[in-house]
Amino acid sequence: MTTLRIGRLDVQLSGARAVLAGRLDDMVQLGELATRLPPGDVAIDTAGVTFVNSIGMREWVRLLRALRERGAVTLEAVSDVLMVQMNLLAEFHGGAVRIASFHAVYLCPGCGREATPLVDAVVHAAVLHQMRAPPMPCPECGKAMELADFPERYLGVFAPRA
Ligand SMILES: [Zn+2]
Repeated sequence: MTTLRIGRLDVQLSGARAVLAGRLDDMVQLGELATRLPPGDVAIDTAGVTFVNSIGMREWVRLLRALRERGAVTLEAVSDVLMVQMNLLAEFHGGAVRIASFHAVYLCPGCGREATPLVDAVVHAAVLHQMRAPPMPCPECGKAMELADFPERYLGVFAPRA
């Protein structure tokens, strides 16, 4: 495993898999990451990405475009802030990029607990396709938590292309 520091982003590379944690901001240049990943299919885990701004997003889009020219890209455990940003871009709508799982802010109607559970997008593919968030169990009381935001903020990437 190789560890890289790109701006305020920590990257762990092992084979065709990269794990990103930190900030996608003005300091980040992801061109290097594209060259460090092997050609072919790759997987990127962004669960630890806590901040994204417009410059970081531009770098992220460039990285995904470059990688998709070389093979399939699977995004794993996409962090909630990155999900919201990706949903703002039409380029990522309609299943254009494969998202295996993601984090989203949920709220429990029973006890008021807020959480960002990991949603398995493969298991829940059918409901996500209809822009509905699958209920997730509350870590506090066990009741079904609901998405705390408009479905469009998180789920536009799964809806069929209009
Ligand atoms: Zn609860």
